[in-house]
Amino acid sequence: MKRTLLTLALIFAPMATTPHLSAQDPSGNGQAPYKDATRPVEERVADLLGRMTAQEKAAMLAGEGWMESEPNARLGIPPIRMADGPLGVRDWTGPSAVTSEEKSTFTSTAFPSGIALASAWDVGLAGRDARALAQEVKAHGRDMILGPTVNINRVPLWGRNFEGYGEDPYLAARLAVAFVKAVQAEGVIPSVKHFAANNQEFERHRIDERIDARTLNEIYFPAFKAAVQEGGAWAVMSAYNKVNGQWCAENPYLLKETLQRRWGFKGFVVSDWGSTYSTAATVSAGMNLEMPGGEPMRSWMTHPSTQKDGNGAGWLTADKVLAAVAAGQLRQEAVDDSVRRMLRVMFTAGLFDSPRRGGELDTQEQRALARSAATEGVVLLKNEGGMLPLGAQRIRTLAVIGPSAAIPRSGGGGSSLVTPSYVVTALDGIREAAGPRVRVEYALGAAMQGEDPEHETPAAVAALRAEAVKLAARSDAVVVVVGNGHHLESEGFDRPSMDLPANQDELIRAVAAANPRVAVVLIVGAPVTMTQWVDRVSAVLCPWYGGQEGGHAIGDILFGLKNPSGKTPVTFPRRLEDATAYGNYPGENLHVAYAEGIYVGYRGFEKRGVAPLFAFGHGLSYTTFEYSGLAVTPARVAPGGKVDVSLTVRNSGGRAGAEVVQLYVHDGHASVDRPPKELKGFARVELAPGESRRVTMTLDQAAMSFFDPSRNDWVAEPGTFDVLVGASSADIRLKGSFELVR
Ligand code: BGC
Repeated sequence: MKRTLLTLALIFAPMATTPHLSAQDPSGNGQAPYKDATRPVEERVADLLGRMTAQEKAAMLAGEGWMESEPNARLGIPPIRMADGPLGVRDWTGPSAVTSEEKSTFTSTAFPSGIALASAWDVGLAGRDARALAQEVKAHGRDMILGPTVNINRVPLWGRNFEGYGEDPYLAARLAVAFVKAVQAEGVIPSVKHFAANNQEFERHRIDERIDARTLNEIYFPAFKAAVQEGGAWAVMSAYNKVNGQWCAENPYLLKETLQRRWGFKGFVVSDWGSTYSTAATVSAGMNLEMPGGEPMRSWMTHPSTQKDGNGAGWLTADKVLAAVAAGQLRQEAVDDSVRRMLRVMFTAGLFDSPRRGGELDTQEQRALARSAATEGVVLLKNEGGMLPLGAQRIRTLAVIGPSAAIPRSGGGGSSLVTPSYVVTALDGIREAAGPRVRVEYALGAAMQGEDPEHETPAAVAALRAEAVKLAARSDAVVVVVGNGHHLESEGFDRPSMDLPANQDELIRAVAAANPRVAVVLIVGAPVTMTQWVDRVSAVLCPWYGGQEGGHAIGDILFGLKNPSGKTPVTFPRRLEDATAYGNYPGENLHVAYAEGIYVGYRGFEKRGVAPLFAFGHGLSYTTFEYSGLAVTPARVAPGGKVDVSLTVRNSGGRAGAEVVQLYVHDGHASVDRPPKELKGFARVELAPGESRRVTMTLDQAAMSFFDPSRNDWVAEPGTFDVLVGASSADIRLKGSFELVR
């Protein structure tokens, strides 16, 4: 981290032009060392901290507004201006309810959801996406983006699954690092959220999660740890919930012991909005900046719905902080440490040194990036009889049906939903890709729950379905676009069930009875139940919430203009009862036990021998790939050493496309129980027909280790490790092994 900060400080140095407020600085600090952008960050921090009064320091611990930290005019300390995140820049002027998509005062690019990005398994893409986002942050005159969301998909019903990167800690960690590095390279402050284990919205402000240390370290921490240690993250956001009896914002195990001591975090922790419940305990635990603050905080906190939810705020105001110090409950050093951490990040990001320049909005490049990201993230779950791709040579007429076909569905709901200047719907994208030779006709089929009451009466439901069936019967093929809306899948609440809402299951069954060539397109943020119809349709495509360009991605894949290369970053259970956390969610009396421990997602399905509907890492393609020539070297590795896993992938089909090669490790000899498979490497390889490439992935000590709570550390035990390389967790093509010697 230190090296990263120093390097970035040097990078930012030439950007320095006019220091803020130097001309009319009433403090006489005009030429003070902290204003000199050529000096090392730590020197500037120490100098500025030394000039601050106790009152000024205390004032920095709480925000000034809804999304701004407290500035200091005397010393020329600017505010940190924030915006949500993480799927685009959201209106920052107030709570989600006030800045909902209809009311946003500006537009910005709606990038694909986190789960779509994760489905691409492409760290380069994640970096490009984050860089474009950071440029928009700057173009809007903001300094900090509230993302990435790296919480693990523990339960399919979690309302925010769409924001995160799926169920696997290794995949989430790789994407988190790429995101953080790209944002920071633009001089924008990211906020890796929500630390830790914000895995359900149900009672998110009060729920106390019991999670053992091994599970925290192996499943819920890795993305945060990697973002901090490898990405050099400047900021982390604490979560709303409690972990093992303490709120995350005042949890010394999470903040002091883990983040600061074990991981060496040098940045600052910002609270989630309204998640603090004490003064001394919060600051002492290592939570540095309370948000929101000022008048917006006060009026929001008195709102009945905020109170009902159980939000807490207003604990780190200057008067309370000063009183806690005076009463001997809080050490001044803890206050200084918070200010030091914020200043360090602000200097490093260049907030003091230049009017922040750069960044553009709604450019062709951003639109193109949003489109290619959406396309890469599409997962083809099923394609029987080669129904897809569609093409003008195969069909003349196409029925497009469903409540998500013609209505924009760029993202899930809550603080991540941005307002783009346009959204390409599935119908738009399909029409464009189909071209003039295919007649595309549309029927709503069913109204999305809660969107159109007139269409929800029993008579209207029957009429809509009958119309859709009629259209399906006279068409050569059918695409049914179903899913959830952002009012149904959102931050703030969990889904009541894994089933599709709005009688969409019945719609699909009725349409499938009328036409044997049906492809279902799922615009969702998490798995849904498909048992009612999955055996009756030919194809299932999952583009997730694809952002403003999602419709283009759907059209391009359905018509084969692009090869589907995405792989699902979550297991699709057949039924909710099969999900690994079933029975331990949502908890009772405000307590939830993470009793499945490390057996989350595919780790749990494989352990219990439960067959999923679609396995983690699964995704079909229009071409085929062959795996051969596995080499694992060296065969015997000393402690601390690395092992290279190489293989050849060949595109043996007739189309260009990308394959996501997955590397799993199994440790069958450990003194503790370990999962049958754990993802420890992957590579996305673009190949022309007939082309082959040698791929090498490296396993380090971390890839061999489990977390041992008795030592509070990672341990790699000597013995034989199985190496499993495949096209999904359930489709292992090559097997090898190596031995870790003593
Ligand atoms: C969310 C955060 C978000 C914050 C500010 C909270 O409700 O949990 O993810 O960044 O609001 O909008």
